[in-house]
Amino acid sequence: MKVFGSSGTRGVVNEELTPEFVLKIAKAAGTVWRSDRVALARDTRATGDMLADAAASGLASVGADVDRLGMVPTPAAQAYAEREGVPALVITASHNPPEYNGVKLVGDDGIELSVDHLERVEEKFLTEAFESVRWNETGHTHRVEDVRDRYVDQLLDAVDREAIADADLTVALDPGHGAGALTSPEFFRRLGCDVVTANSQPDGHFPGRDPEPVPKNLDDLGRLVEVTDADVGIAHDGDADRAIFYDETGEYVEGDATLAALAAAELDAGDAVVSAVNVSQRLVDVARDADARLELTPIGSTNIITRIRELRRADVSVPVAGEGNGGIFFPNYRLTRDGAYTAAKFLELLVDGRASEVVADYDGYHNVRVNVSYAGDAERDALLAAAERAASEADVEVNARDGYRLDHGDAWVLARPSGTEPMVRIYAEARERERAEELAEEMAETLRVAKASV
Ligand code: MG
Repeated sequence: MKVFGSSGTRGVVNEELTPEFVLKIAKAAGTVWRSDRVALARDTRATGDMLADAAASGLASVGADVDRLGMVPTPAAQAYAEREGVPALVITASHNPPEYNGVKLVGDDGIELSVDHLERVEEKFLTEAFESVRWNETGHTHRVEDVRDRYVDQLLDAVDREAIADADLTVALDPGHGAGALTSPEFFRRLGCDVVTANSQPDGHFPGRDPEPVPKNLDDLGRLVEVTDADVGIAHDGDADRAIFYDETGEYVEGDATLAALAAAELDAGDAVVSAVNVSQRLVDVARDADARLELTPIGSTNIITRIRELRRADVSVPVAGEGNGGIFFPNYRLTRDGAYTAAKFLELLVDGRASEVVADYDGYHNVRVNVSYAGDAERDALLAAAERAASEADVEVNARDGYRLDHGDAWVLARPSGTEPMVRIYAEARERERAEELAEEMAETLRVAKASV
């Protein structure tokens, strides 16, 4: 797909992502959906109004009435779409820097559009074969005011409210000036937690931190946990579909460790858990210990959703899925990533232990990354052929869905071409650093030798 990447379409506003572009996306999506009503939402970005206006105009021009939800987390817009049975267009760039914005498309089941559905929208976009309606059939706009309240109510109904309240937790929350600032403080308060916040004013200039919840942006949160003696720190990305955690000592918890801890609590024998090919050994170990099956897809949430749907159609239970970036699915609740729900599931674990104890089993894994660059197609082909040969010659389990992942049981190595730079990235992970380094270096050396012989 040219227009839609693995997580929608994003770009720097007024450079790659213009109102004209968004207008065309809206017309294309509206044409494919053929729905007489479409929901439209945005996160807190400074350019959100401008682009939402363009989207509203495009949707109305192809005959759809537009329910304007205003600033809401993406999972709240998805909840509205599911409840009302209408598709939704969300103006958000998720975790990207402030100058970015983008579009996410959601079906009338509240789930992000599948790849084949996005391809149909893209085809309409490229051919400009938009629905054409008469002047008196164009759509009208309605404001919907209670989306955030109903979203929080739905969350409260879905988690173990009593247990969390009884645990008497202090939550340090950093919604990063994003859409979660409008819902998460209230949600955790109504769960019976004491809530202290950083960067909790919705602000599209993101003065306190960038929207991506990674350690370099989260010093405020670590300090807030320490000075308030909080039990846990929680950070969201810009549209609040992800949650990242700090333990009670103010230490960052790796997203892979959180995913493993949450999966261990959810998985029973015979279940499946779905993740991407760069999944941590932590989740491999959790799945093996639970006697559950681990299914790996190409990287990107759309691929994970597609695989969950396939498994569920085959009557396989998938209670948990996701990636180590804080984007976690609990498909028995909803087939969406939801930062607030993910955080509440983590709070449920804190009923029985402190945050550092809950993740202790999944600490101490070592990740190693090596890049092998290439110049031109011949070198690139040689590198990938060498990776394929190494995979086929190794006496281990191989996954070739997105690059080549070799699972050694206790450790793994993945060789995968970068999507943005001329290099093959090699990832390896093991309990012992030497083991991870050995596997990464072995693969890198194989690739270097192949490159030298081009
Ligand atoms: Mg996001």
